[in-house]
Amino acid sequence: MLRAYDYAEPAGERGALQDSQLFQREKQIAQNFVITHPLKTETEVCPVCGSRNTRFIFQRWDVNYRFCDDCDSIFVPIDPETCAEYLELPEMKELRCSDAYQSQAVQRRRGIWADFVMWAEYRTYRYLGRNTRLDLIDFGNKYTGYMELFQESKLCGRYELRNSLFPLESPHIEQADVVLYLNQLQHECMPAESLKQIRRALKDDGILILNTRLGSGFDILTLKGGTDNIFPYEHIMLPSKRGLEIILDQAGFDLLEITTPGTRDMEAVLKNRERIEDTNFFVKYLLDNADGAVMADFQQFLQKSGLSSFAQVVAKKR
Ligand SMILES: [Zn+2]
Repeated sequence: MLRAYDYAEPAGERGALQDSQLFQREKQIAQNFVITHPLKTETEVCPVCGSRNTRFIFQRWDVNYRFCDDCDSIFVPIDPETCAEYLELPEMKELRCSDAYQSQAVQRRRGIWADFVMWAEYRTYRYLGRNTRLDLIDFGNKYTGYMELFQESKLCGRYELRNSLFPLESPHIEQADVVLYLNQLQHECMPAESLKQIRRALKDDGILILNTRLGSGFDILTLKGGTDNIFPYEHIMLPSKRGLEIILDQAGFDLLEITTPGTRDMEAVLKNRERIEDTNFFVKYLLDNADGAVMADFQQFLQKSGLSSFAQVVAKKR
């Protein structure tokens, strides 16, 4: 299984997905919901590996995130009803479906999305032996510009959108060659159950392409929760790399490839250095003394070693 290789630093904007005003609005809607819907329990069971060996790691908006000492995943112990209600929040849907929100996302992310589509084309060829005119089912995609790039790519024959904010008219595909599950795992309180459902949408020889933030990434663990971009109940599941492997195995997938091509861990840690604990002497020393070249090398080391907080995965049905 391919686990790591060299990455070139991707060109283009790696900044925030939305401008500050839209992002603040998005966070405000989430925060209002969280305040009026506090956690019903503080269950200690890890939703990834089932261990009770979990402990408090950080708090955001009075919500306690927990860390599993057995699989290193980070999670919010949320009940499925509250989780579903958050995802259906009409105010959030309205904001995210708005032209302003969608056009900001396209402006800021088109290049990165296009790189990802190209990566998916390579991976599909590698594992399916072909990469044209395939049946794709895209679970939960929130961005019209991203959907269009997939639909327009040579990869795509038929395209179906499922579980999305958008009521897109698309053909029903019984079972697809490729299932896309992009940036969705963060919303899952029962990740393996969701992936079992997704598995049913895949042909026997089909592949799952998934990406997600990883709780075991350098910036998340160093900053204990990462940046302001991570907040409840938008992010309730941050599996570790091992946690991700466990989830896929439980859901009946064989992992073909997991890589962490993230490029922003060091940048996030630098920008939020006041959040680094005083006892984290090594990272503080690194930030105080390393020049740009060392920082870039360190980021590349994180990428190659599976230690960055963004993962891309290819898996097949077992
Ligand atoms: Zn665990």
